[in-house]
Amino acid sequence: MQHTLRRTAVASPVLALLAGGGCAVLWPCGEGARQSIGAPSHGALVNAVRVPERSANTRLFRSESEGGQIHTTRTLRDAVLESAQRVARVAPGGAPLVVGDFSAPFGGRIERHRSHRNGRDVDLLFFAVDRETGRSVPATGFVRYDRDGNPRDREATVRMDVERNWLLVESLVREERYGVLWVFCADWLKQRLVSWAREHGRDPRWIERAERVLHQPGDAAPHDDHFHVRVACTTEERSSGCLDGGPHGWWLSRALPKLDAAPQDDLDFSWESPERTLAPSPPAATRPRRRR
Ligand SMILES: [Zn+2]
Repeated sequence: MQHTLRRTAVASPVLALLAGGGCAVLWPCGEGARQSIGAPSHGALVNAVRVPERSANTRLFRSESEGGQIHTTRTLRDAVLESAQRVARVAPGGAPLVVGDFSAPFGGRIERHRSHRNGRDVDLLFFAVDRETGRSVPATGFVRYDRDGNPRDREATVRMDVERNWLLVESLVREERYGVLWVFCADWLKQRLVSWAREHGRDPRWIERAERVLHQPGDAAPHDDHFHVRVACTTEERSSGCLDGGPHGWWLSRALPKLDAAPQDDLDFSWESPERTLAPSPPAATRPRRRR
């Protein structure tokens, strides 16, 4: 979450010590090693991976030298980089996804956030288009949007790119190995994304999942200027006391034992098949009906 200003701090000395001596009996290094410890608002991170300043389809909003937090778990790093890649494949020609803070090298309290303390939270700026031309442009900052996807700041030159933001959410919820628990987002923007997905014939299974994880938090700002994504602990981490900080969707209860699986080499682009590719809205009579 992007809201509470706090002084920079590190994890508690005990957790930092554990982290510093990370490749040991308690926290073995290598594939399958535990990374996330404790809860999103009280935890720490060990064996963290760094997220690159740029990838083919992502840019960090703040680099490490600018005070950005770029450390996370393999699962969340992969979820973000792969999902940005999928959006670019399904809707080519767009600007990169602009990625906000992950966590500090060893987790713990950081500026600007109340959670983000154990590597399983990240802020993603909304995809945007130029207000005049409709062309995809990189997000320039945390722009707040109203229910029509227009900026609350009348000086802003962008509006929300509903298509690409939906595709991002769709990727996050359909890949079970990411274990996405929450995508915090204002209710009015959730409505807009879900409506777009229905009108464009997206698979009802992913719409149902998105309706479950897109959520306006009751105890924080409404998240009308970015998504905040939280993923689950791996099974191994959970057995060591990692606390998810959110409920599991029905699909994750079944998938959780698989969340420790090694990363896939090949991404699943099967959803680029013709019926899934972005297409003009079908006539009203042929629109698929909601499943329940
Ligand atoms: Zn956040």
